[in-house]
Amino acid sequence: MKTITMKFGGTSVGSVQAITNVCQIVQETTAQGHRVVVVVSAMSGVTDSLIQSIQLAVKGDKWGYLSISQKMRDRHEEAINDLLPPSAEREAVLSAINKLFDQHVELCQAVCILREATPRIEDAIVSFGERLSSKIVAAALRQHRINAKPLDAAHYLLTDESYQNAQPLWDETQLRIERHLLPMLDSDLIPVITGFIGATADGAYTTLGRGGSDYSAAIFAAYLRSDEFIIWTDVDGVMTTDPRIDKRARVLPYVSYQEVGELAFYGAKVLHPKTIQPIINLGIPIYVRNTFNPSHPGTLIGEETQPSMTVIKAVTCIRNISMLTISGRGMLGVPGIAGRAFTATARAGASILMISQSSSEQSVCFTVVGNQAETVKQAVEDELIVEINRQNIESVDVSAHVVILTVVGAGMRGTPGVAGRVFTVMGEGGVNVLAIAQGSSECSISFVVDEADMKRAVVALHDLALEAVPN
Ligand code: ASP
Ligand code: MG
Repeated sequence: MKTITMKFGGTSVGSVQAITNVCQIVQETTAQGHRVVVVVSAMSGVTDSLIQSIQLAVKGDKWGYLSISQKMRDRHEEAINDLLPPSAEREAVLSAINKLFDQHVELCQAVCILREATPRIEDAIVSFGERLSSKIVAAALRQHRINAKPLDAAHYLLTDESYQNAQPLWDETQLRIERHLLPMLDSDLIPVITGFIGATADGAYTTLGRGGSDYSAAIFAAYLRSDEFIIWTDVDGVMTTDPRIDKRARVLPYVSYQEVGELAFYGAKVLHPKTIQPIINLGIPIYVRNTFNPSHPGTLIGEETQPSMTVIKAVTCIRNISMLTISGRGMLGVPGIAGRAFTATARAGASILMISQSSSEQSVCFTVVGNQAETVKQAVEDELIVEINRQNIESVDVSAHVVILTVVGAGMRGTPGVAGRVFTVMGEGGVNVLAIAQGSSECSISFVVDEADMKRAVVALHDLALEAVPN
């Protein structure tokens, strides 16, 4: 008997048909004698709608948030009515979700009166999505004669107070999960836990960042000593590249923890970048699979860095990026300029996705999300004002509309010539590389190229990855 933790994403619980698939998957797994733990996202689009309701309330648009709330209420009610026959159970679930929607309206009302939403209130409002979906999925499972119970992660997943990007408090979380959740598994109960949310020590809702259900599911998988962790989503697995950019994209049968970490960080949207963190030391195998195509084996993510036939496994792409370049001959040998520029960037609230410096030390460039570029430029110029006035620094330039492309593959480590091959391919494709950086793990190389060159560059690099993947 294995313990299998399964996370179902927004589209996988986004419709009656999808929830029915979820029930079948759980049923088959329990029928094989395994213990199952379910972690759910909000129904697809609900988190976005909740955020929108807050924005409308801040603006004082009462009609706006009321109509969004009503639409969501209707959607959830309809799902319940379709999934459950008329019964006391159905009434109980309907009443529970209506209570949550009443609270949603009340909180929006408070925001509307104050014309302000603090991050704490925003998390309280955004938490409704998962609290609703867990109730519906648990009820649907019970319809399938599975002893399921909806559970609010706020009771188990303790976090600090950094709302919207809360950090788990590991020891207390482990203690609570082991003390209160593990025994439930022994009594044959199937918990249906809210993903994405946690709570502070004084009980205020927090969230782990957008897409954070993967991360919370990984935490539960780890502390519930799972033998397997399955991320059920709406694609067949981790792909060699984004199929919207190159239709030839294929599912990778296997990637290592390290590779998937780079892939997630550099824009492949299958996994939240922190997901492997709780898992990695325990070596729990992760599968990424498709609820809408459950016979596909998906991608296995594990410990081993298998030598692959080619070294490049996948190509990812992050769009809407701007690159800042600080240049000047006077920077040569002056310590601390990069450090101060990065600190100024952090103070401006932007995070840096990639850094590269020429060895002549005459320029440093780094990338930030496009809409933060002007604020960051201002902050960096303010910080370096003395050097700019002395003309040690000539300029801080922004190149907007660039993208970061990353090629990932653990086999690059110790394989000479990969960068050379990659450059040849880019050159042959007529792609101008603006900057390059290699991850220190030597498991990825990133480039900045013009947005106009993106497609050509991805296709050229993807050719290298496709050589290895069986059809
Ligand atoms: N519902 C949350 C979001 O949309 C968390 C998740 O789905 O992983 O970001
Ligand atoms: Mg997700």
